[in-house]
Amino acid sequence: MDKLAVRGGEKIRQKPWNFNAVIGDKEEQSVREVLESGILSGFIAKAGDNFLGGKFLKKFESQVRDYFKIENVVAVNSATAGLHMALGACGIGPGDEVIVTPYTMSATATAIIMQNAIPVFADIEDNFFCLDPKSIEEKITARTKAIMVVHLFGHPARMNEIMAIAKKNNLFVIEDCAQAPGALYNGSYAGTIGDIGIFSLNQHKTITCGEGGFAITRKGDLAKRMQLIRNHGEVVAKDLGLDDFTNIIGYNYRMTELEAAVSLVQFQQLERLNQYRIELADYLSEKLSRFDELMVPRQASDSKHVYFVYTLRVKGDAGIKRDPLVKALQAEGIPFGAGYVKPIYLEPMYQKKTAYGNKGCPFTCSFYQGAPSYDKGICPVAERMHEKELMLSGVCRYPHSREDMDDVVRAFKKILTSNDDLIF
Ligand SMILES: *Cc1c(COP(=O)(O)O)cnc(C)c1O
Repeated sequence: MDKLAVRGGEKIRQKPWNFNAVIGDKEEQSVREVLESGILSGFIAKAGDNFLGGKFLKKFESQVRDYFKIENVVAVNSATAGLHMALGACGIGPGDEVIVTPYTMSATATAIIMQNAIPVFADIEDNFFCLDPKSIEEKITARTKAIMVVHLFGHPARMNEIMAIAKKNNLFVIEDCAQAPGALYNGSYAGTIGDIGIFSLNQHKTITCGEGGFAITRKGDLAKRMQLIRNHGEVVAKDLGLDDFTNIIGYNYRMTELEAAVSLVQFQQLERLNQYRIELADYLSEKLSRFDELMVPRQASDSKHVYFVYTLRVKGDAGIKRDPLVKALQAEGIPFGAGYVKPIYLEPMYQKKTAYGNKGCPFTCSFYQGAPSYDKGICPVAERMHEKELMLSGVCRYPHSREDMDDVVRAFKKILTSNDDLIF
């Protein structure tokens, strides 16, 4: 048997992987048009046409509206801004609790803190790594105002059950779709099922403009409030006929014309880039499912997975150790990571309950009577995935090919047939 690279043997793969944005002539042309126009951002914080941004931004929003067949789109300069804006539009504020998964990019939960509200973490289920409806129900209190759902890794959460819980308890549902643009649940796009869907266009996402994002919603009143929060709303709201000023603290979450120009061309590539990911992921899963030690990603029968991330689970009873396996893969030139993120409540901001100032706000404040636990152990499934079972990779994407996937398979084969006591 070949010596493992981690033991000093030859690597399976020398060739680098390519994780760059997929940018072509059309993006270049589109950006050139903006530069030649001399208007790099079309926004003015004043009632009137420019309150809603420039020509390219409006064109981008209209394209997104057509794709999702949804009434309202609000483009912003990041998904983090979008999540914050969405919570503000829903009226979330001091004393409120928002139920959220701990297994997500930090901003999903931080946006709740930014609105002076309290993240309450519910556990995930271990098939698709999204919020477990049963755990959500257990976390609801009289203070709960919203559920923040994340369609993690490109697979939709169990929206039917989540929407039923929300309806029963009169809660808003915000969908964080940063990793799932184009994913389907029961024939509906992720992001069109709850009250508001938020998408990211940052460098690492399926389509990108560097930094950017957008919100979609069927509800005109929420869209209007988001537009105010995006663009210094407190000085514009009255002129626009708004009576309820709750949370109309306007930020500058405006997307530039340059970002919009790139986004609108990128958006036209979304289906093709998703299809590319799906084909590579299916190919890899077919090959890797032959290894008894691994569980390849699943897709619910009512869902379309868009494989923003390719996940594998190490079977608990297979007798292999995940972390050394990941190290061995990396040594072979195959980029896998162990776990995803540390469950968010274990981060120091939650452990020390320090956010605004040094008096414990918003966790301990006169408007808030609750005391949710951020102790280790509160979300055992998320912790088990992070510590022991989950491993993931971003290799299933353009411009990688089936030959590149074969390198991944060869590395797994080399390692899993080695009987090396590092791993077994
Ligand atoms: C990337 C990401 C975000 C944040 O996106 P930005 O555009 O970088 O602010 C939020 N949530 C999830 C799940 C993400 O993957």
